This record gives sequence, C-alpha cells and structure tokens, in this order.
Amino acid sequence: MPSTIMAIAAHPGDGMFTMGAAVAQQIHEGGKGVFLSLSLGERGSNTIPMAQYGEMQRTAMNNAAKLLGAETEFLTYPDGEVPSGDMIDFKVCDLIRQYRPNIVISHWSGSWHKDHQNSYMVTRDAVFYAGLKSLTRQLPAHGVRKVLFADNWEDAAQYQPDLFLNITPVYDNWVKACALFPMWRGENGFRYNDYYQSLAAMRGALANCRYAVALMSDPEQRTRTVSNLDLSS
Ligand SMILES: [Zn+2]
Repeated sequence: MPSTIMAIAAHPGDGMFTMGAAVAQQIHEGGKGVFLSLSLGERGSNTIPMAQYGEMQRTAMNNAAKLLGAETEFLTYPDGEVPSGDMIDFKVCDLIRQYRPNIVISHWSGSWHKDHQNSYMVTRDAVFYAGLKSLTRQLPAHGVRKVLFADNWEDAAQYQPDLFLNITPVYDNWVKACALFPMWRGENGFRYNDYYQSLAAMRGALANCRYAVALMSDPEQRTRTVSNLDLSS
C-alpha cells in the first residue's frame, strides 16, 4: 500500500515544480501527499508588492495541491531569510510527526540559494528529531523511511540522481497544477515551464518511459547489505 509522501521546500514553486510530480504519482498510486513550504516566496516578483505576491503564491499552492489531491502546510518564514537551527527544526519535526510520511523529498544541499541550503539542513535534522523517541513533543516519534532530493535547476552542484520515477500517468495534471503559479511561464525571468517540462521528457527518455523525474537518494541511505548479489537489484 503506497504511503504518505511529504515535500519540504523553501518556496512554493520549488515544491510544485520539482517535487510535485512525485507527490502526484504517489497519490495516483493510492498514497497521500503533503506540501510543506517554509516561506511563501514573496520576494519572487519585481513588480507585485511582497504581501500581495506572497498571498498569490499561497493561493496558487493551495489550488495546485487540491488539483493533485494533496494537502498543504506553510511556515511563512520571510523569503530569503529561511533559517536553520533547532527552532525551525522542531516545527518541521512536529509536522512530520503529525503527517507520518514514509518518504520525504526536499532540496539537495548543492545549491547556490541560502534558503534551499537551509531547507536541506532543516529537513535532515527534522527527520532525525521526528524519529528520536527520547525527544518528547506533543506527538509520538515517527521514523521516515526514505529521504530523497529533488532535481532542481538551482540545486545542481554534485547532484547525482540514482532513481527515476515514471510520472507519465500524472504528467498532464501536474503541468496544470504548475500553471496555476504566476511565475511558471517565465514572468519573473526564468522559464520554469520550458525547463521542467523538457526535463521530464529528457528523464523519461533515459528511463524508457514518456515522462519521468529523477531523484537522488540520501548518500547515507545508498549503502545496502545483501547475502546474494542476484537479489541486489
Ligand atoms: Zn526556491
């Protein structure tokens, strides 16, 4: 039975554009999905005032998640000022204990963007705290089985995907969800639509299916122990 997947992103656009197809596929398979945004990405527009743009981003994320059948959570740290450290770690830990995901997707550490780097560290530490039985919070401990990192144009340094997910069944719906975001078509300078739709086709060509997303396993989780090499694949 497919489980719950939680996407933890610095900004709503990262969550939907780079992690949304995997969340949609998990739901398509019978699982559940939740998007956690650590900020509203309100500094993303050069023309729309911050408060207004933040609410546009929140609305876009809520509507996009609804389209995919997923839930949303927002921590609303100021865009560009997503912190690291125990305060934010505990908040994310509590949400992990609340939703009890088997799988968490987040940013890879090799990013030039400080919010993305901090999201990587917060995810790592919140997953650790969530599973720590001796850490008493309101909700009981929950162990996340797998942490995966999304294929994000801003987090490309030393990004080495080792897992391809066929997203062909959910591709059209995911693109519709992405198109609800004001910046999808390049309004803020980067053509997310061209990049992420082409990327899905390119990864699909490599994975021998129509559309795919590539994911990177936590380097620490790549090690496996087997007693029979024929059973290792
Ligand atoms: Zn971002």
